[in-house]
Amino acid sequence: MNELVLKGVPAAGGIASGEAFILDNQEFIVPQRIISAHEADSEVARFEEAIEQTRREIRSLQKKITQDMGIQHAQILDAHLLVLDDPMLREQVTRGIQHDKNAAEYAFIKVMKSYVKTLSQIQDEYLRERTSDVNDIAKRVLKHLMDESKWHDLDNLHSDSAVVAHDLSPSDAVSMFNTRIMAFVTDIGGRTSHTAIIAKSLGVPAVVGLKDATLRITNGDHLIVDGNKGLVIVNPTVPTQELYAKEQSKINASLAKLGDLKELPAQTIDGKRVFILANLELSSEIKNARKFGAEGVGLYRTEFLYMNRLDLPSEEEQYQAYKQVAEAVAPLPLTIRTLDLGGDKFISSVQIPKDMSPFLGVRAIRFCLERPDIFKTQLRAILRASVHGRIQMMYPMISGIGELRRANAILNDVRRSLRDEHIVFDEQMKIGVMIEVPSAVMTADMLAKEAGFFSIGTNDLIQYTLAVDRVNEKIAHLYEPAHPAVLRMIQRTIDAGHNEGIHVGLCGEMASDPVLAFLLLGLGLDELSMSPSSILTVKKMVRGLRFSDVVRVTQEAMGLSTGQEVEEYVSAQLRRLVPNL
Ligand code: PEP
Ligand code: MG
Repeated sequence: MNELVLKGVPAAGGIASGEAFILDNQEFIVPQRIISAHEADSEVARFEEAIEQTRREIRSLQKKITQDMGIQHAQILDAHLLVLDDPMLREQVTRGIQHDKNAAEYAFIKVMKSYVKTLSQIQDEYLRERTSDVNDIAKRVLKHLMDESKWHDLDNLHSDSAVVAHDLSPSDAVSMFNTRIMAFVTDIGGRTSHTAIIAKSLGVPAVVGLKDATLRITNGDHLIVDGNKGLVIVNPTVPTQELYAKEQSKINASLAKLGDLKELPAQTIDGKRVFILANLELSSEIKNARKFGAEGVGLYRTEFLYMNRLDLPSEEEQYQAYKQVAEAVAPLPLTIRTLDLGGDKFISSVQIPKDMSPFLGVRAIRFCLERPDIFKTQLRAILRASVHGRIQMMYPMISGIGELRRANAILNDVRRSLRDEHIVFDEQMKIGVMIEVPSAVMTADMLAKEAGFFSIGTNDLIQYTLAVDRVNEKIAHLYEPAHPAVLRMIQRTIDAGHNEGIHVGLCGEMASDPVLAFLLLGLGLDELSMSPSSILTVKKMVRGLRFSDVVRVTQEAMGLSTGQEVEEYVSAQLRRLVPNL
């Protein structure tokens, strides 16, 4: 077998090897097969057996999920059991076999398709959303009725697999938590897609935007996934495998050395202190944040609590979750970001319009302002948790002062009702604003007067400033964090915040890249928040530099005219100033 090297977008660092597992999310085509009259009874029996097998499979899956993730996640499959037990389904499929002489799989899929069609036309949002459950159950049953080798889905995943998919939604990625996935490889997606961010939190390398990896990789191929360089090596030769084994041991050795920095402050040689915090998607990541010496959590993306389930998390459930994270992080600070749904993150329990341009549509704070019922439940839970640690809260995607005031008005309502109910909360909890939309940057002077702090979300700020969709691999080369426009946006935000005496942090992915973090330090940020695994490298860089050099190089870089020139210049200076980074 010849070695094949595919180049994509590096999304989560690290090197891993494993067997390719092609995740097939496509619609399944079930050819019509007419049976003879004497086959009817055995086809009905085959269908009944498939239903029974599926029921057993779902029950055992529920048991496993309950053990790994808790009962509420297992309940997501209750709806599937209900579909299987539906007498109408049995009756219609049996009729399809006996009267129409269709084979079991075709009779079954015909009925399921009519269910999906009916559901998708229903006005009720909740019922309409159930089409995905019906599709899912259809796949499960079909698997028992058709040649299994044709089916590849997550249930068949075995250890040491590198998942290869056309696309993976953030919720697909989260559902792989606790499985032994070695790496993610996708045809589409960009460096800051939430799937890439989840790969980082699961600690596995990811290469996205490979365009046609699912066509060029075959199930079972041996893959080396190089998440640092964005390469996927298919069926590597022995010399390539040896090269990567060496590279891996070099990386391990330097990571082991970085551990010594854990307890030391992120401070330059001449005494400039910056705070380095962790971004958190799953509460299981707290131990990593601690392991790498995070000085708190600068961004807790709460929407992951809402994913992979059929219902919305209750106030009590959210309160317990936030309290648990706050206590685990205390006495260090925890910044909870309110719900940021839409864009590339969708959930089953609420219908969010799939706009033509989802990142420009009903997303984040816009969704919360449209659904104050959902928003208030979250705010109550956060406020109640605020007495259990050092919690502060921030709103995503604020585009101007009007939105901030509307969000705060809802918050004040919630505060009032808690007071009426004699429920204690931290009256002083800081309320911050994420700066991720150019209009927020241009009005940052006004926002700073009413915000407790700023946190710059560059993943979005870059896409909105440069008009480059963050998940579109076709324009990934245009997504330039060091573009002069982006750097000026950041500079302007920092100045506006500091003029009003508020803290300015940054929690986009660019904080974890040493070259870009160098620039951010030079621009005067107070705090950088990043995926835990990047913390020690950035800290090492900070401790190896003089702030005076950082400011000088950054000012020179600000005079350059393209993102590429900026990156090349800073990279060269950084290599000179901290040669052993
Ligand atoms: C950002 O936009 O930079 C950010 C941190 O938020 P998210 O990646 O969740 O959109
Ligand atoms: Mg964002």
